Amino acid sequence: MFYFFYTVKMISFLDLKKVNDSFEPQLSIAIKRVVDSGWYLMGEELKSFEKEYAQFIGTKHCIGVANGLDALRLILNAYKELGFMKEGDEIIVPANTYIASILAITDNRLKPVLVEPDINTYNIDPYQIENSITERTKGIMIVHLYGRNAMHPEIQRLVKKFNLKLIEDNAQAQGCHFGKKHTGSFGNGAGHSFYPGKNLGALGDAGAVTTDDDELADIVRTIANYGSKVKYQNLYKGLNSRLDEIQAGILRVKLSRLDVDNMRRNRVAQYYLDNIKNPNIILPLKHKPEDGNIGSYEINPSNIDNVWHVFVIRNSKRDSLQKFLFENNIQTVIHYPIPPHKQVAYKEWSRMSFPVTESIHNQVLSLPMSPLLTDEEINRVVEVINSFS
Ligand SMILES: *Cc1c(COP(=O)(O)O)cnc(C)c1O
Repeated sequence: MFYFFYTVKMISFLDLKKVNDSFEPQLSIAIKRVVDSGWYLMGEELKSFEKEYAQFIGTKHCIGVANGLDALRLILNAYKELGFMKEGDEIIVPANTYIASILAITDNRLKPVLVEPDINTYNIDPYQIENSITERTKGIMIVHLYGRNAMHPEIQRLVKKFNLKLIEDNAQAQGCHFGKKHTGSFGNGAGHSFYPGKNLGALGDAGAVTTDDDELADIVRTIANYGSKVKYQNLYKGLNSRLDEIQAGILRVKLSRLDVDNMRRNRVAQYYLDNIKNPNIILPLKHKPEDGNIGSYEINPSNIDNVWHVFVIRNSKRDSLQKFLFENNIQTVIHYPIPPHKQVAYKEWSRMSFPVTESIHNQVLSLPMSPLLTDEEINRVVEVINSFS
């Protein structure tokens, strides 16, 4: 193995500098445009981005906010103001999600009801939801985790049957589809994050809410602006959660290449799927079988059902695998090392048991993934993984 004897450049998990450099000079031009305009909040860039992103996702409204957590908090907060939810009501959420989905619920004094994921998709298991529904259940928050669509006909059925609000956490899946529609357009409301490392990433914090519901859009927009529609008149105990003009300008540039970048991610994923042959490594499932698209399925930007925010493998000796990869100059990340119910912040759940979730957190490892990985880099990742025993 020549890796041990030559200094090889580290393959980073995600080289953000390289990604953002590839958008130059457009990013600098957008930033300068805002600087020169003399207008830094709630201006034309935000208006244009909201219009373009709503059009992209396929919803009537987009409200730019400060970050992805706020986007989810604001949707639930608005449902409380609308009287559809009240303190102590229950929201179903996958047990293996990133903590932000759950924080958005508890921040509103609602009760997260954790449901196990399907081990094959890492998304909430649609067939385990109904058992967790009680008369206090007011909503289901699905999370398109790792960039894979979590929407499912069974979820549509339950939402209708029990008159629930469907909230989508689309922080990791900008550009993903379920059928012909984008994720982020199925729920009553969806939260999006443009944290720098997301598929559509700003150069700082940013987020958005998308919805078709005029009333929800109006209240989210108002709460996010101090609860005020007319300056110095406050309708709600609001907060300050705004998407600034510079980030909006940057996001407009990056949105224009999102489909191309997601296709590049798909190409990297396909290479990993075709070439990692280590029998001890569990690879991600390519498509959900119930999508019925296995076989003659040509992936393109209008039907892509996984935008590979991260490429997650499983291995029973995960920690030694990560060390081995690092010694071979390959950087990896664990999404996520500790499940929400084992976090100190939620010590009241520490006795709960979610075996699928726990096994995921003990075994998962995310390989380098970026639209700009070179063939040489992904080939090296494959070779090193195949040599791990
Ligand atoms: C990133 C992320 C969030 C939160 O987004 P921020 O912009 O960091 O607040 C929420 N949910 C999921 C699943 C995420 O990955």
